[in-house]
Amino acid sequence: MNKAVSRATFDQVMVQTYSPAGFIPVRGAGSRVWDQDGREFIDFAGGIAVNALGHCHPELQAALAEQAGKLWHVSNVFTNEPVLRLASLLTELTFADRAFFCNSGAEANEAALKLARKVARDRFGLDKHRIVACANSFHGRTLFTVSVGGQAKYSQDFAPLPAAIAHVPYNDITALERMVDDHTCAVIIEPIQGEGGVVAADPAYLARARALCDQHGALLIFDEVQTGVGRTGSLYAYMQTGVVPDILTSAKSLGGGFPIGAMLTTNAIAEHFTPGTHGTTYGGNPLASAVALRVLEIVSRPEVLAGVGTRHARFVAGLTALGDKYGIFKDIRGKGLLLGCELQGKLEGAARDVLLAAEAEGLMVLQAGPGVVRLAPALVIEDQDIDEGLARLDRALARIA
Ligand SMILES: *Cc1c(COP(=O)(O)O)cnc(C)c1O
Repeated sequence: MNKAVSRATFDQVMVQTYSPAGFIPVRGAGSRVWDQDGREFIDFAGGIAVNALGHCHPELQAALAEQAGKLWHVSNVFTNEPVLRLASLLTELTFADRAFFCNSGAEANEAALKLARKVARDRFGLDKHRIVACANSFHGRTLFTVSVGGQAKYSQDFAPLPAAIAHVPYNDITALERMVDDHTCAVIIEPIQGEGGVVAADPAYLARARALCDQHGALLIFDEVQTGVGRTGSLYAYMQTGVVPDILTSAKSLGGGFPIGAMLTTNAIAEHFTPGTHGTTYGGNPLASAVALRVLEIVSRPEVLAGVGTRHARFVAGLTALGDKYGIFKDIRGKGLLLGCELQGKLEGAARDVLLAAEAEGLMVLQAGPGVVRLAPALVIEDQDIDEGLARLDRALARIA
């Protein structure tokens, strides 16, 4: 039963929560993707900062195939070897002592926020439950995480929303000082706002958040779902800031394309989650864990992390030249291989047009809001693919700029 399907099928049988591109990818290798008609695309989107090692990386294929022949799933009624190896490596490589696994970034944040509420209740009683989050932030699509996220358009249709959540402008130290008090149970921050336009936190802002949390007995949560696993050139973005969170959430690149999420924390905080307090059927299953373990082993190699910096420089040089040529980039920003080009002039607010023009030239890119073109390619993208993709972006911009 291999019925022919096309882009039109999407409009007939899928819930229309997305409006995907006009072509259907059927195969990928490295940073190239082919559609149903055999047309080739350069991938600067990386599955939204997920495909850290590109498509069908041979070592990930081997890890998945090997585990697929052994054991797929047993539930958390039983533990398994891959998840224990993965947790051991994550705790070895980060500040954390312990890991909780789930299947997505939203679930990792859901676990973090629930844990923060429980820690505050256990330590201080009922009157310490406010979560302080940033305007324009993105933390996922469950009801709790859209409510904590700072974009009302994602939450307003689903009210009544969870209570005791406050938003402050990102990077505004004074606003944070005014908001965080003894009723605060947690402050949650993306070290770089990804969906919110590729905007990095000032190290001084993060340091102040750390100090305020310490002063008021609140937990500092870093949402590294988008910035984690090598994306910014260090294994996690916090490692470049000098600020260590109490809880860190990871997903996207962690699985390199296989769904997995993780919440990392310390012994003292983790002990507030005891058997039965939180859980998930699939979380940390052997297939996802085996793939994530291999992703982590590869990405944490010094040459892979160093390669992110050299590729960053190559992208920024190419993008700067395009910006100068067409006068359409107000700002080129981001760290490592999470890059944002803010549009101006004729293309102000027209990121969607850039995506469509890029598609027509055989290039996959992302947007971060209406005004920013976002790139989140594989951490190991080849120089020739960067150059060819930038040439295609040049032709795409020539169409519309
Ligand atoms: C993508 C993202 C999420 C949500 O992850 P899902 O896997 O889609 O649930 C949460 N936080 C940040 C910062 C993200 O970029």
